[in-house]
Amino acid sequence: MHGPGDVRVEERPEPTIEKPTDAIIRLAASCICGSDLWSYRGIEQQNGPTPMGHEYAGVVEAIGSAVTSLSVGDFVVGSFFASDNTCSICRSGYQTSCHHREPAAAGGAQAERMRVPLADGTLVATPAMPEAAMIPHLLAASDVLGTGWFGAVAADVRPGGTVAVVGDGAVGLLGVLAARELGAERIIAMSRHAARQELALEFGATHIVTERGDAGVEAIRKLTGGDGADSVIEAVGTHESMWQAIHATKPGGHMGYVGVPHGVSLDGVELFFSHTRIHGGPAPVRRFLPELIERIWSGRIAPGRVFDLEVPLADAAEGYRAMDERRAIKTLLTLS
Ligand SMILES: [Zn+2]
Ligand SMILES: [Zn+2]
Repeated sequence: MHGPGDVRVEERPEPTIEKPTDAIIRLAASCICGSDLWSYRGIEQQNGPTPMGHEYAGVVEAIGSAVTSLSVGDFVVGSFFASDNTCSICRSGYQTSCHHREPAAAGGAQAERMRVPLADGTLVATPAMPEAAMIPHLLAASDVLGTGWFGAVAADVRPGGTVAVVGDGAVGLLGVLAARELGAERIIAMSRHAARQELALEFGATHIVTERGDAGVEAIRKLTGGDGADSVIEAVGTHESMWQAIHATKPGGHMGYVGVPHGVSLDGVELFFSHTRIHGGPAPVRRFLPELIERIWSGRIAPGRVFDLEVPLADAAEGYRAMDERRAIKTLLTLS
């Protein structure tokens, strides 16, 4: 990305093994994340041209001399932060705060090949080479599914509970799917967009709320006997969506936030009297990858349904435009 709205596909040097713990992978497909739009829209500043993309799945082409758990030819999925998966923080399940964390795709994952640091701790191999039809689902596990899943876990979704989801992007929609998988009984998706409502229902939403802000909160209260939801997943990252989520949570309930905050400020007194338990942050996707891959592999879940536009990597600029204009939920970039 050369600047806001300026995406170009260029030849770059081939990635190489730089450290003995690295792996080089050939991506099976790539994609554009909702969080890439923050810089596309100029809300997040960049220092000059930046390689983009942080979601990936593909085949290991080379490994460093210290990599022991993977072999060349393995099909792998990884998270957007590389982690050793052995330190005390990783062992507690917060790999995105690993003592040795670093971006997994510093050279960009919207590419044909990439270098992944800390390969043993970061990458998870699939049981065998996946069929082509399974690749979008595995790619979704790399971020949007793992992030929606963490949102549901952070919101303490439990069997029989009532869940509300703020945000109808890929992460919010997959938060709906996670809530269903974790046993929620009522799942309220907030969306005013027909195609997204439809996917939310397919993923397990039982109710759709089209109102936003205070009216949206009011609608959720009405559906929950005046209490608010036991669990609320926030998947946007704006000041309005954070407060919408807090206000929609039942006193004593949990709010899980996974939208990257931009311009959010929380008033202490209001927070104090809300009685909301708030947890969130960059999703430790690595914690969930083995079980997510298993659910995908068995055909139980199809998170790749969030990809409603496919363009070749060479047309990445159109993929960004379509997401920016909300013509697409999520763009898959195909590689030949
Ligand atoms: Zn992302
Ligand atoms: Zn660690």
